Amino acid sequence: VRNLLASLFDLALALIEVLYRNTCAACGGERPLLGRPLCSLCAATFVAIAARGCRKCGSEPLGRTRAPARCRRCREREFAFRRAVAALRYGAAVRAVILAIKFERRREAIPLLAGPMAAALREAKLDRRVDVVVAVPLHPLRRYHRGFDQSECLAAALAARLALPHVEGALLRHRFTSPQSLRRRRERSAALDGAYVALRRRRIRGKTVLLVDDVMTSGATADAAARALLRGGARRVYVAVAAT
Ligand SMILES: [Zn+2]
Ligand SMILES: [Zn+2]
Repeated sequence: VRNLLASLFDLALALIEVLYRNTCAACGGERPLLGRPLCSLCAATFVAIAARGCRKCGSEPLGRTRAPARCRRCREREFAFRRAVAALRYGAAVRAVILAIKFERRREAIPLLAGPMAAALREAKLDRRVDVVVAVPLHPLRRYHRGFDQSECLAAALAARLALPHVEGALLRHRFTSPQSLRRRRERSAALDGAYVALRRRRIRGKTVLLVDDVMTSGATADAAARALLRGGARRVYVAVAAT
């Protein structure tokens, strides 16, 4: 009887381990709390920044409590979008989650980004001003190779959370730019000018569009995509990014 109990106990332990063996979505390490997607170390680098970001481009001010009226990024260019909201600081864990979605297709990690983005947009009261949600797309060739467009998935998840329509494939990236050609910021904006074209114009004409991307660096990509939407008849464009 004792042997039977012991083996039943082992079986139960094995079952529990299979059911609850979860790893951190960012570092792959063990996570201390059941039901949490990140370990405590990674959770600490997941920092919400939307509330103190630049009112135009969403960038986080360095060493200040509030962003100046015009941050450094905004002083360099006139963005075509009305306003961008960045949910999270581009820290180690956020970067790892974005790469896991992008290259390992870990769709289950998408809520880790879509959740904070939805919260940031609600806090900025932009969710009520937006009519449709669209994504900054990959070039079709890159999408074909990767088999997956993380920004479209992010846009779909965000639209569902905000109960807004997601217009899939609203933009087309028709110019292929190699990463090497995007090395310098000035070359980057020149290379991206006219890189996007709006499709499905009936769905965006006269609408306030929320443009979704995973990361914003210089803002050149969001700017080029926003210009294409405005050329395609959108009334105004807001931008939501997971991190900056
Ligand atoms: Zn971790
Ligand atoms: Zn700014």
